[in-house]
Amino acid sequence: MLWPRLARALVGRPLTDPAPTPPEEVVAALAERLDATARTRLGRSLAIRQVDAASCNGCELEVNAMAGVLYDLERFGLRIVASPRHADVLLVTGPVGRNMREALERTRACTPDPCWVVAAGDCALDGGVFKGSYGVEGGVGAVLPVDLVIRGCPPTPTQLLEGLLALLEAQARPAAKPAGG
Ligand code: SF4
Repeated sequence: MLWPRLARALVGRPLTDPAPTPPEEVVAALAERLDATARTRLGRSLAIRQVDAASCNGCELEVNAMAGVLYDLERFGLRIVASPRHADVLLVTGPVGRNMREALERTRACTPDPCWVVAAGDCALDGGVFKGSYGVEGGVGAVLPVDLVIRGCPPTPTQLLEGLLALLEAQARPAAKPAGG
């Protein structure tokens, strides 16, 4: 019967879990440092192109959370862009499916240098739970040189931010002078 169900749906509590509260101060501090480092390194804020290379979509949920209203990282200048031509970072999630190999290579080819490839999630490291599957090439490193791996299944938005910050801080550091130079 439709009506009892409808009445239950109207008065019952939602079946979804409440959204977790992000660690506001930690996230804001990380995002501010990331923005400042990006401005030192690039002269502007950081642009990220996310590439799903064949993930289960768990990692995308976390990337979306990072970019969504809860974390609201655009207020710190962090942008997820629609085209690799506008990106500084390729944030790749999932193992690389065989059908995605060429797409990933072409995405990298259209991203201007300097471009950093970040493998986000355990699958992006080495195939994770999909390792050895007939449809999987392996981790991102099997297709492209990887600058940073962010572990986790999936990594949280805070871990993604920490990883991106570590990457940019390492890039922003001036090269060490040779000993005796
Ligand atoms: S790391 Fe975990 S959440 Fe991310 S794609 Fe693999 S199985 Fe899914």
